[in-house]
Amino acid sequence: MKSISKLGQSIQPSLTLALTAKAKKMKSQGEDVISFTAGEPDFNTPENICNAGIEAINKGLTKYTVASGMDELKEAIVNKLSSENNLEYTKSQIIVSNGAKHSLFNVLFALCNEGDDVILPSPYWVTYPELIKLVGANPIIIETSESNGFKVTIDQLNKIDPTKVKAIIINNPNNPTGAVYSKKELEDIGNWCVKHDIYIIADEIYEKLVYDGINFVSMANINDDIKDRTIIINGMSKTFSMTGWRIGYIASNNDAVIRVISGLQSHMTSNPCSISQYASVVALEDSDEFILSMKTTFEKRRNLMLSLVNDIKEVSCEKPEGAFYIMLNIQNVIGKTIAGKVINNSIDFADVLLDEAKVSVVPGVGFGAEGFVRLSYSISEKDIEEGIKRIKDLLSTMR
Ligand code: PMP
Ligand code: GLU
Repeated sequence: MKSISKLGQSIQPSLTLALTAKAKKMKSQGEDVISFTAGEPDFNTPENICNAGIEAINKGLTKYTVASGMDELKEAIVNKLSSENNLEYTKSQIIVSNGAKHSLFNVLFALCNEGDDVILPSPYWVTYPELIKLVGANPIIIETSESNGFKVTIDQLNKIDPTKVKAIIINNPNNPTGAVYSKKELEDIGNWCVKHDIYIIADEIYEKLVYDGINFVSMANINDDIKDRTIIINGMSKTFSMTGWRIGYIASNNDAVIRVISGLQSHMTSNPCSISQYASVVALEDSDEFILSMKTTFEKRRNLMLSLVNDIKEVSCEKPEGAFYIMLNIQNVIGKTIAGKVINNSIDFADVLLDEAKVSVVPGVGFGAEGFVRLSYSISEKDIEEGIKRIKDLLSTMR
């Protein structure tokens, strides 16, 4: 038989989704697994949002909508951006898609030609490099350091040849590191992009999950020149615990980008689910209490994770300021032996944790961060305590 697409075959499946599914399967088979792999809030979607979905079904609002999203939802997004982020967009500058993942693909497709470079600071969320490759572009990875809070700096950008660079992806707050950029840091990056005519893909899906009283600043909020070349990515998944509803969106005042994505979406998926769109209107308009309570819970769990992890002498962790992940530094574990197995990398460590302690984590290599593993604290305090205790006990046997 003729061989199938080379590009298609070059795409790696999502490591985070695969490991989450594996841990779930082990649990359903009765294994006592503590899973730190979850990439979604462990809260139910709030009742008022669910009811809005049910109402949409009961009212027969179950037909195609405008391919780029319903007017009512675009209006709710415009209002959200104005009241919460102090950003003015019109409805025609918004496109609603089947999740932020879909929005990201659409934006990369609209921006990139074959051979373009896209700057991606590492550690990065697993999906970015694959989507960049899917549109024929090259990911240009800039390694950030733990000592710098895992944030890309202007000094690092100044060392890049910008000639072939079409765009940079800034994920703030960051998955997997929890890093949150300050206004000044965003300004430096944004002005560099303006100077070199580079688009900024600002993935702000974790914007509501920032701790320690820090105020989230949107990349588009720095100045008009930066806003003009910024394409905001956001969605319902993390803010309203609506991962399964599949609604994401972009905001951009670049007409050409909007036009290309509308056309693309009209052929590829038609509209995002009508029921989810109706529910999303209610989510955006009436969720303040839910968001506050989720954020408070996550902040408490983050503090618990940090205090427990910092009590383990073989590993360490810097304090993340957002999202719901920590990056556990396992550099002192590499080369050592646990349960008779030499730990050569983050995959070996994740394997031995699962086999010997029934604890599931995501190896850093999937995020371009060898020497680390990602732990999600989207689980109960009781599970956090038990899981970290198991890690500590296993590490105490390290030779
Ligand atoms: N961006 C980041 C950084 C994420 O962690 C996720 C979660 N998978 C997404 C985008 C995509 O979210 P969704 O497709 O569920 O809207
Ligand atoms: N963003 C989540 C994670 O990083 C969900 C999984 C995925 O979409 O890859 O775990």
